[in-house]
Amino acid sequence: MAVVKDNAYGHGLIEIAKYLEPKVQWFCVARIDEGIALRKNGVKLPILVFEVPDAERVNDYPEYNLVATVADIESFKTIADGTEYHLNFDTGMRRLGIPPKEVHKALDLFQSCKNINCTGIYTHFATADVADSPFVEQQLELFKSIRNYFPDSLMTHTANTGAIFYYTHLDLQFDAVRPGVCLYGYYPGQDEIEDLEPIIEWKSHLMQVREIRKGESVGYGASWLAPEDGWVGTVPIGYADGIQRILGGKINFLVGDDLVQQVGRIAMDYMGVFSKERELWLNEEVTLLNGSNLHPKYWADIAQTIPYEVATSLNANIAREYL
Ligand SMILES: *Cc1c(COP(=O)(O)O)cnc(C)c1O
Repeated sequence: MAVVKDNAYGHGLIEIAKYLEPKVQWFCVARIDEGIALRKNGVKLPILVFEVPDAERVNDYPEYNLVATVADIESFKTIADGTEYHLNFDTGMRRLGIPPKEVHKALDLFQSCKNINCTGIYTHFATADVADSPFVEQQLELFKSIRNYFPDSLMTHTANTGAIFYYTHLDLQFDAVRPGVCLYGYYPGQDEIEDLEPIIEWKSHLMQVREIRKGESVGYGASWLAPEDGWVGTVPIGYADGIQRILGGKINFLVGDDLVQQVGRIAMDYMGVFSKERELWLNEEVTLLNGSNLHPKYWADIAQTIPYEVATSLNANIAREYL
């Protein structure tokens, strides 16, 4: 089950789904509109929607052949006749899911609601991004005890990227797994996963270049001053495009093949780079992110966030080219 929620973690929902469709058996999305977008673009595979069905949208599930999640007792009543659904039990994430103490209520409704069709059961781990968390096993044991109440025929799934890669010693893969972030080449936590390489390369260019003298400033606040004479280039990318403003002055980019400093505050649509070693040329290619020395994890560490947020921050309007 390939997780392609949130515009395929920023990489482009439709193109990524089309690429993955021959390689996987299911798609998972966060919101019903993402599922509808996949259907409108010809995706035929089963699609599981994670969110709690909105009472005003319940007819869209059967209409677009989307599998709903029942994550609370109320949803048994709200979802429309003929809807296929998976049960989501909350074993410790405490975000979405039926609380374990309501398992009997859920079982009753599972058996009595003949107008809707349960085909799966799942849970989600809170700490699987860390390699040695005892909480993963606790959640797993609780899930297994809940799972026992339901028929074996239900498709069972629990594992996100962290669970798949860091918990190979636990029996948690069941019938299907739900990888998200690893599909795009990132590892979920601090523990590097071999053979994963970001699929993204983010490129721009120098829209203007100029010489700068020692002591002259660049950008809002005039807060960065050139330490020596050199060249400054303006890159037409800013925080509205999805680069975190907090990275201002703290990262490097490639201009051509040369590493240069990003300097000055990151503005809404622009930011500066500085070179003292060599002249910068108009329209030279600038690489912001790549799969090696400009890994999204490098931004994430500086911005005190995770590659998930770096990737999903990329403005959906930025032109994407698929190689
Ligand atoms: C996002 C999500 C996943 C995928 O998680 P990754 O850490 O990106 O692999 C799996 N299951 C659920 C319920 C999710 O919300």
